[in-house]
Amino acid sequence: MEVFDAAELWSREQLEQTQLTRLRSTVAQARKCAFYRERLDAAGISSGSLHSLDDLRRIPFTTKQDLRSQYPTGLLCVPRSQIIRMHCSSGTTGSPVAICHTQNDINAWGDLMARCMYMVGVRRDDVFQNMSGYGLFTGGLGIHYGAERLGCMTIPAGAGNSRRQIKLARDFGTTVAHILPSYALILGEHLRQRGEDPRTFPLRIALVGAEPYTEEFRRRIEGLFEMKAYNSYGLSEMNGPGVAFECLAQDGMHIWEDAYIAEIVDPESGQPVPEGEVGELVMTCLCRQGMPILRYRTRDLTRFLPGTCACGRQHRRMDRILGRADDMFIIKGVNIYPMQIEQVIMTFGEVGQNYLILLENDGIGDVMRVQIEIRDEIFVEDMRALQNLQKAIAQRLRDEILITPRVELVQSNSLERGEGKAVRVRDMRNKK
Ligand code: ADP
Ligand code: ZN
Repeated sequence: MEVFDAAELWSREQLEQTQLTRLRSTVAQARKCAFYRERLDAAGISSGSLHSLDDLRRIPFTTKQDLRSQYPTGLLCVPRSQIIRMHCSSGTTGSPVAICHTQNDINAWGDLMARCMYMVGVRRDDVFQNMSGYGLFTGGLGIHYGAERLGCMTIPAGAGNSRRQIKLARDFGTTVAHILPSYALILGEHLRQRGEDPRTFPLRIALVGAEPYTEEFRRRIEGLFEMKAYNSYGLSEMNGPGVAFECLAQDGMHIWEDAYIAEIVDPESGQPVPEGEVGELVMTCLCRQGMPILRYRTRDLTRFLPGTCACGRQHRRMDRILGRADDMFIIKGVNIYPMQIEQVIMTFGEVGQNYLILLENDGIGDVMRVQIEIRDEIFVEDMRALQNLQKAIAQRLRDEILITPRVELVQSNSLERGEGKAVRVRDMRNKK
């Protein structure tokens, strides 16, 4: 197998040995800031007291709140003069956190990203168009550097503006794109409306991530453009993209264990969940000097996949992200994740590219409405056909989530959509 980095082929033993060595040096590095020094002292931890990987569990968690409390530079572990870049999280769930990188950090991140892209077949002859927002968001420069590292001709197109995306891709023959899942369908629809078949688009590979999406959604993106779409996972606190990535087998994302230690814990107790069960992903970075972060509670829910991957890599795989713990909403006593809804509605061929879940209170109780965009050719059908579709979707949703939402079919492009990550739920229950 051709790989970008020999570490991809390491055995479990090699990986775990390296993890322990790097964990020790990361702990030593983290102790250079007062925050971690105090935390680690209180827990009685120094780099010398870590004898095996199990000792990782003695290290206290770091939460998003911790990072916010240390904003902007409380967690710096090198002199300010060694920092060459900073990034912020998107702030999807509150005020953003800032992460500062040294030159080494940036190089290591670029290498990880290049490794991911190479793994799915991206080569120097490819033309790579980054349709993700630039600026502070790590999906911009993070992936950009990976693509350049591979030697691809890299087009920093930025987010949105479908007309320009299409022109650039056609003019330069873009073969690989980085794209938000929610935007991929919108771009395809834009092409169709111009009378162009998205399958004639030159794309052959898409790197798709930054927000949750279901397998059904992926298959749609692939079918629409007749290309392969690979799931890409990362978060700013752990650099950004390049943390875990699907290989050609498309059967879970390999977590790069030479650069990270992943754990999955019960979100309530913080204890490890039984192997293969869903819990909260906790990540430790092993290759960062500027701002090392130990046992970070990502709030992302997933599970480790059992067994080894068909590709032969021994780096553990995780399942697609079910959602963030914060995405869960409770209605009529039932816990629901938006992805459960997406999974159902995207199996209907009549459904278009966007949907929105609205939670309201009608004075009597909580009401859940699901607005679903329907493909244009379906929308012109007679009332009865639409009503039947509406009923069928509501029925299937009931089977999945045990309550019956109000399903509303709306015209394509009628739901509002910004350029960033899709907002799937609008909770208006406590707003008057
Ligand atoms: P924010 O947490 O403010 O959105 P980031 O831009 O750092 O900040 O985004 C990281 C988050 O995006 C992850 O914690 C996760 O919730 C989500 N995410 C990233 N990649 C994926 C993916 N492939 N599937 C699902 N969610 C993802
Ligand atoms: Zn694999």
